[in-house]
Amino acid sequence: MPDHRSGVAARLQADLSTNLDRLAADVVALAEINSGSFNPEGVTRCGERLGSLIEPLAPVRLEYVDIAPTSVMTDRGVLETRPVGPALVATKRPEAPFQVLLFGHLDTVYPVDSAFQRVSRQGNTLYGPGVADCKGGLVGAIEALRGLDDAPWGEQVGWRFAAVPDEEVGSGGSKAWLQAMGEGCHLGLGFEPALPSGGVAAARKGSLTAHLVVHGRSAHVGRSHADGRSAIRALAQLIEVLESNNASPGVTVNCGRISGGGVLNAVPDLAIGSFNVRVESVAAHRSIEQAFSDAVTAASVDGIEALVQWTSARPPKERTETLEELLDDVVAAAASLGHPLVAEDTGGSCDGNDLAAAGLVNVDSLGVCGGGIHSPDEFALVESIPQRAALVVELIERRIQGR
Ligand SMILES: [Zn+2]
Repeated sequence: MPDHRSGVAARLQADLSTNLDRLAADVVALAEINSGSFNPEGVTRCGERLGSLIEPLAPVRLEYVDIAPTSVMTDRGVLETRPVGPALVATKRPEAPFQVLLFGHLDTVYPVDSAFQRVSRQGNTLYGPGVADCKGGLVGAIEALRGLDDAPWGEQVGWRFAAVPDEEVGSGGSKAWLQAMGEGCHLGLGFEPALPSGGVAAARKGSLTAHLVVHGRSAHVGRSHADGRSAIRALAQLIEVLESNNASPGVTVNCGRISGGGVLNAVPDLAIGSFNVRVESVAAHRSIEQAFSDAVTAASVDGIEALVQWTSARPPKERTETLEELLDDVVAAAASLGHPLVAEDTGGSCDGNDLAAAGLVNVDSLGVCGGGIHSPDEFALVESIPQRAALVVELIERRIQGR
């Protein structure tokens, strides 16, 4: 294909590479605001800070949108809701012929009382909460949008930039809203961190959260043990049955948390097991849901009552033809900018799964290179921000040319 592109992405990359201190400062400012998913006040402040970084792209419409709370399972076996902060959406040129949804999240996995709150910088590496996942990516997205404004073809491109407050807890409250933001868009660009290789995610497994709540019958261990029905024993058997699905291809079942029981001289009448399930295909998703439902039905006999509650479900993101075409463009765009990368399948899931399920073709890991995410070793490489911002601009140019 003849290279008749404008060179705007390469210029953006060169320009940003001389401004690493400013980029680092923007990431630090966002990352030092604690925005654990269940710290709505911090998420609000983080969103406002992000809004202040977007405002100079005027004229742009900024909106803060209330998001429904997240369901969590308590040790009493009942679901409760916990409030989350607002989402932010910024809109520019809504009438342009080519519409892009940029997406990321404001929240992090670090709660308000986490010991990991400050960012330190060594050379061009930032160590801090959320620097890679995904505040560095949010900063890169803004730089890409600034680059679009300088492109001779930029007027053809309108965008929505949506940042949700609850991605790290499954996006239960924001999912439908984000999917609606993607309606009418031609392309989705997500700013989750790059894969460890520096590559972008291709297929992603689906991720489901299930809670088994098992009720039994209490009885005194010494006097009337035979009258009791142990919820813990029934749960243990259920875990064994359900984890045996790991022998099936395309499914991973992990019971990661159990609670229940009480005093040791009473038969326990309550036990709760919480599971994360990963699925590679829609068919595997359906069959594992059925397996959970069959297992609790089979276990609910003779004084035991078991039920399953699903609190979040991200469907798998499969390698469709349209996704393959998009990934080819991403790989070609990165190579043309001098930083080749690969598209790889991954077991992790994100909002890109939900958007793909709603029909929006998207590449979701255009954020920074870094690592140690979800741990106190999280880090981000500042010099990857110019590369990723330029990649976004180059990719959009290729997509509008290909129309
Ligand atoms: Zn993330």
